[in-house]
Amino acid sequence: MPNAFANAMKQFSTAAQYLEIKPEIMEKLKTPKRALQFAVPVKMDNGSMKTFEGYRVQYNDARGPFKGGLRFYPTADLNEVKALAFWMTIKCATVGIPFGGGKGGVKVDPKKLSTKELERLTRSYVDALQEHIGPYKDVPAPDLYTNPQVMAWIMDEYSKIKGYNEPAVVTGKPVEIGGSLGRDTATAQGAFYILSELVKKLKINPQKSRVIVQGFGNAGYHFARLAKAAGYRIIGLSDSQGGIIAGQGVSFDPESIMKIKKDKGELHGYYCVGSVCDKVDYKQVSNGKLLEQDCDILVPAALESQITGKNAGRIKAKIVLEVANGPTTPEADVKLNKKGIVVAPDVLVNAGGVTVSYFEWVQNLQRFYWTEPEVFSRLQSIMVKSFNEIWQVAQSKKIDLRTAAFVLAIDRVSKAMAVRGY
Ligand code: NAD
Repeated sequence: MPNAFANAMKQFSTAAQYLEIKPEIMEKLKTPKRALQFAVPVKMDNGSMKTFEGYRVQYNDARGPFKGGLRFYPTADLNEVKALAFWMTIKCATVGIPFGGGKGGVKVDPKKLSTKELERLTRSYVDALQEHIGPYKDVPAPDLYTNPQVMAWIMDEYSKIKGYNEPAVVTGKPVEIGGSLGRDTATAQGAFYILSELVKKLKINPQKSRVIVQGFGNAGYHFARLAKAAGYRIIGLSDSQGGIIAGQGVSFDPESIMKIKKDKGELHGYYCVGSVCDKVDYKQVSNGKLLEQDCDILVPAALESQITGKNAGRIKAKIVLEVANGPTTPEADVKLNKKGIVVAPDVLVNAGGVTVSYFEWVQNLQRFYWTEPEVFSRLQSIMVKSFNEIWQVAQSKKIDLRTAAFVLAIDRVSKAMAVRGY
């Protein structure tokens, strides 16, 4: 996404107007502390050698070790990873957890690799980065097209290099090797807590609300499942192949759709296979058109820059709940705000993932593990407290929720930088 970092900097300068920050701190916040680009060589199954481009951006560690996901995606690039690392800095500060911000990526289409090739790619990435990561330096986690298995390979490779088990080097691991209970659904659960608070403030009745979710991966699927269980009507879903929109009066059941997707490999074109089809009326739409359908709550949960200056005028939702990172461009933000559409910002909405990652890291360091209800009750209190703090800033300064979150977060980061004498 070519403009991701420019967009992040626009959001930063919008929020900075409401703060008194020393110019030298402002200047430092505009550049990552470290941006690494490196070769990730992989021996392919046919014996040939292929080199992929790897990145890790360590943006700011004033409040704690760098923290942020690792994505395997064909269009990943340094600019995008830089933006995501900046947003992680803001996100950790927004919810007040003691981490800075980082992000990693490899420019690769993981769908074209065998499992063994994917494992070798992951291990090669860790070998290249080993000096720069660690429980007190930089702690990666899952993101687009990486999962607990990839995190397990990261933990294993790093532990082999060190000569001892180091689960706290990465979060989002399988529970068998120190993953936290609840981590797999944490992002969606956190987003759901935020939506629940927001609809109370806006006096919107969940039972009468129609929801569209773009993206049917870890974040999007679990969110749709939780929303359905709470009585919201799920009227639109999509994955990378395209979307489906429910006919009049129909609410999709994300769990049965996921079963079909797992069987058939994709959602688009396969929804109407087997018994579910007999009961459900739907039509196929492109990912672009999906966003423009009539609904109450639009949930982008796939990629950056989905709502832009071009299509923002056609968005019909009352709420945009940003489960994905950076789905709304600054131009779109202005248009949505003018139309009175409430945008619940990514740095708050999807912060449940990094919050439970923080819990995982704490549990790993203590070698003492919590129950799932303990995890979710701590998650809920952090999400609800953060939502109320941001709501308060937005009301008192008469600004939108994104700017309010940035104001709160930049204030925390810049104070940490100042007190450390940066
Ligand atoms: P994932 O890999 O599990 O799923 C991604 C989903 O997006 C898949 O359903 C895929 O088919 C779909 N997709 C891919 N390209 C698309 C396109 N062009 N149009 C529409 N859909 C497309 O990833 P995820 O972990 O669910 O992450 C989704 C978003 O949420 C990303 O922006 C990620 O940064 C953000 N996020 C995830 C977490 C987490 O814990 N998983 C935490 C914070 C933020």
